[in-house]
Amino acid sequence: MKLAARVGQVTPSITLAIAAKAKAMKLEGIDVCSFSAGEPDFDTPAHIKAAAEKALADGKTKYGPAAGEPGLRQAIANKLQKENGLCYSAENVIVTNGGKHSLFNLMMALIDAGDEVIIPAPYWLSYPEMVKLVGGTPVIVATDTQAGCKITPDQLRQALTPRTKLLILNSPSNPTGMVYTPDEVRALAAVVVESGIWVVSDEIYEKLLYDGAQHLSIGAVSAAVFDRTIISNGFAKAYSMTGWRIGYLAGPVDLIKAASTVQGHSTSNVCTFAQYGAIAALESSQDCVEEMRRAFADRRQVMLDGINSIPGVSCPKPDGAFYLFPNIAKTGMKSLEFCDALLESQQVAVIPGVAFGADDHIRLSYATDMPTIEKGVERLAKFVHQFV
Ligand SMILES: *Cc1c(COP(=O)(O)O)cnc(C)c1O
Repeated sequence: MKLAARVGQVTPSITLAIAAKAKAMKLEGIDVCSFSAGEPDFDTPAHIKAAAEKALADGKTKYGPAAGEPGLRQAIANKLQKENGLCYSAENVIVTNGGKHSLFNLMMALIDAGDEVIIPAPYWLSYPEMVKLVGGTPVIVATDTQAGCKITPDQLRQALTPRTKLLILNSPSNPTGMVYTPDEVRALAAVVVESGIWVVSDEIYEKLLYDGAQHLSIGAVSAAVFDRTIISNGFAKAYSMTGWRIGYLAGPVDLIKAASTVQGHSTSNVCTFAQYGAIAALESSQDCVEEMRRAFADRRQVMLDGINSIPGVSCPKPDGAFYLFPNIAKTGMKSLEFCDALLESQQVAVIPGVAFGADDHIRLSYATDMPTIEKGVERLAKFVHQFV
């Protein structure tokens, strides 16, 4: 079959493939320790489920406006004003089928064939693929481990060309867990303003911060950068709502209208009664978020100590999200070979760094229970010991 050329340039998601393989091995009764999934292991908090159940019982079962339920758009605008210092109203917000979909809508609405999109590496694996799917050109900028895997203002300036349209920022980061400090965000904002490009800030992990790290939304730095900023966020990570598929994009009204048009001809509205769960998530107590964050903080420490006690493996301490991104170069293996061998011989599932543009690394998620973390790290140590 002759498929469309755009599909030929795109690689399937390695994360989803490995997570699926680990799940299949578990079903066969194999004792797998999986650090592959990028999703919290907690159930969705009960009050959020109850709100969706009530909406379902109340007959919120029909088509709604493509851009989202008005009540949810307003609740999101309130949240962005109150928590992030971003002056948005409901018309600046579109509700999407997850954070991934909000970014895809953005690419559809903003990127033309040949437009360049700057993506600091290591990056979330879907960014370059989304850019390619809409005909844009991903421009990957390698960052320094010494600089915390963060793009510097100079690196950003050097990557600019007359075709540069957009910069993708992701802090806290998947896969590294690093967080840009407020000063670093301000310095990048200055380059965005002086160059007149757009910036999309993927803030899906903004609530998962440790050791006093602070999240500054780039759009809050100044009125000038606010005008060039688009925010992508969602409910999956903070509220353990991965399967609900609810995210959002916020930005200038023209862009949000264009994204709504795209959505109106593709998915239409997000599941109507699910959106009522999202309203409850924003408008009820945030204690559930803090409880999960604390559990992640404990697991992070245990996994980090375990990993850094393995000779030949090193990992800086990340300030956010729920991932570690250790360097495995001393084993002499590239990441894919390392991950295949680890899964085969020790039944530990991790994601090869090559998927994120960093072949000397692997990504481990600590969004899993403590016994699995302890057992899995022990197996990882046994595995690495054969090569170092
Ligand atoms: C999980 C994730 C998203 C969004 O996921 P959805 O499930 O589509 O909401 C976006 N960006 C990054 C970096 C992520 O890890």
